[in-house]
Formats: sequence, structure tokens, C-alpha cells
Amino acid sequence: MPELPEVEFARSCLSRWLGGRTLRKVDADPTRVIRGASPKAFAALAGDRVTKVERRGKWLLWRFASERGLLAHLGMTGKFEMARPGTPSVRWSRVRFTRSDGAVVHYRDPRQFGHVRIAPFSVLLTTEPLKSLGPDAKDHPPSTSTLSARLRKSRRKVKEVLMDQTVLAGLGNIQATEALFLARVHPARRADSLTLGEVGRIRQAITKSLARTLAMNRGDKITYVEESKRVKNPFHVYGKANSPCPRCRTPLEKMVIGGRTSAFCEVCQPRSPGRQVEGRARRKA
Ligand SMILES: [Zn+2]
Repeated sequence: MPELPEVEFARSCLSRWLGGRTLRKVDADPTRVIRGASPKAFAALAGDRVTKVERRGKWLLWRFASERGLLAHLGMTGKFEMARPGTPSVRWSRVRFTRSDGAVVHYRDPRQFGHVRIAPFSVLLTTEPLKSLGPDAKDHPPSTSTLSARLRKSRRKVKEVLMDQTVLAGLGNIQATEALFLARVHPARRADSLTLGEVGRIRQAITKSLARTLAMNRGDKITYVEESKRVKNPFHVYGKANSPCPRCRTPLEKMVIGGRTSAFCEVCQPRSPGRQVEGRARRKA
């Protein structure tokens, strides 16, 4: 599932393919991806020029010369792909952006959990979801003390809070799972029980895990880890419950946190510092 590194990959491809270019034609199929918007609003982008493609957390934000904007979220299976003239059609294409040289950038999305929306650029910046987005985990990582202040406001489990886009923008299940493993912090620790030292380790681990995943994605095509059995899972612990811990060889455990499965090592990521706090919370509830 696309998280910050995969969306950053999409941003860099889109900048190469469309940055500074005028669109000859845009057509959107009336699918769930455009959420009931009129395909005519997309068609009206014909003749407009893409001036910039930015990323905010897991969102892509395009700016046009007309001051219109396009906001895209890749959902679970969305991606942008470019097809040169004469190449086979793209399966599950939902929105198509045709360049003046005939090349077409497709938004393809088999499961249609993604979202593409057009509005004035300034409106996109000042309304949800961008309005409430936290600092970008890659471009504007908060200092340890800022991150600590944000985490300590919450009684939720640290993994859930790290995935909350209003706290920190860009992490999903993969990056939160990986970062907590690297930081040796149990994913179910209560966020308000973390020490400054632990938050410092989490902050470093996030940067490290994002950089590692970013470096894995090159070229013009990307395959998400869930998409194909042929793609080897490249992560340390994500999706690897029951496999040996890469650090101590103990079989990895898993638990569901906030509806998402988290793999972790109970030896390298001990629960004990948070157990007491959590026990108290449960009795109170
Ligand atoms: Zn371990």
C-alpha cells in the first residue's frame, strides 16, 4: 500500500512526465475515484499547463498555470503510469492526461480506493485534508522535543499515533512498523508513556526507514509489496510475523493495532515499560 516513499516516487515520475507541460486532453471515467465529480471538470484542464507537482504526506498536489490544482491520493492500489503512443492500453485506467506529444499519463487503480480531485489550488491548501495535515515526515521532520510533545498528548498506542496524519504526515502501516522495530519500541506502548530518549530513537528510525525505502524505488515503474507474489518483501519485520527477527532470531510476533496487523519482536521491542500504564488505563475504563 502506498505510503510516503511510494508517493514520493509518484511525485518524481509526474514531475518528469508532466512538469512544465501543457495538457492536450484530460478524460476521467465516472468511477469512485472522482467521487461524483463531473468528468467535465477534468476535460476543462485541456490547454492548461502543469507548473509543479508537490507531495504533502501521502497526498500529491499538482499546480496549474491557471491556479487550478489537482489533489490525488493513491489509496491502496493507485499509481500513475505513462504510456507512449503506440504502446498497449493500461488496465484499470481511471483518469488520463494526454500530453501534446501524444504520450498519456494514466491514473490506474484496480480497487478504486484512491481519489483524484480538482479545485482551485488555494482552496485545496486551506481545506481538508491538507488543512489538518501534520508536518511531513521527510521534508519537515519535527525535532525530538516537538515530536515528543505531539506524542505525549495522546493516550493511544504509539503505532496508531504515528499513523495519524494530523500528528505526522506520510507514515502508514509499513513505515510505522519498520520504524518502531528499528527504534526498539513496542508498537502497543502508550504514546504518553514514551521517554524523550525513546522518541529520539523513533525520530531517527523514521528517517532511516523512509530513506531506505525511497532508495529501493527507481526507474519509471513501481510494484507495491502486496501486489505480486514475485516481489520479495524487502522490509525488516513488516509482513513477516513468525519469521525470525533479523536482529535476535526470535520468531516475530504480530498483533492488531488500530485495525492493522503489526509485526514486532517481543525481545527487541519489550512491552514492559508501558505495561503498568496500560493496565491502569484499562481499569479506569
Ligand atoms: Zn529481536
